[in-house]
Amino acid sequence: RMDAIPRDLRNLRACLLCSMIKSEEQFESDGCDNCERALQMKGDPEKVEECTSQNFDGMIAAMSPEDSWVCKWQKIQRKARGMYAISVSGSLSPSIVADLKAMGIKYKPNMRDTAEKN
Ligand SMILES: [Zn+2]
Repeated sequence: RMDAIPRDLRNLRACLLCSMIKSEEQFESDGCDNCERALQMKGDPEKVEECTSQNFDGMIAAMSPEDSWVCKWQKIQRKARGMYAISVSGSLSPSIVADLKAMGIKYKPNMRDTAEKN
């Protein structure tokens, strides 16, 4: 399935939680392929605005995230195939971060390039 690939290169946004890049319309109609359960952006343009950012650098295609060294480097194994930003500016609102925490989801804003503990 290639559904996650942006069909329209205008209005691209990157998910603040997983860095997946899709068009604003795709986030609105399908939510985020990785985070929909957590962020519930589907059909909610305000939530899409809140949980994604137009400010991102670099794009990598993750076609088989399980075995790509790029994906290991970017720590995006076990995520849906698609396009991912190398870095995303912006952060989730404190209320969303609190919701994620309640669901047991770790959110590390803009910490991609720092060493992970554990
Ligand atoms: Zn996401």
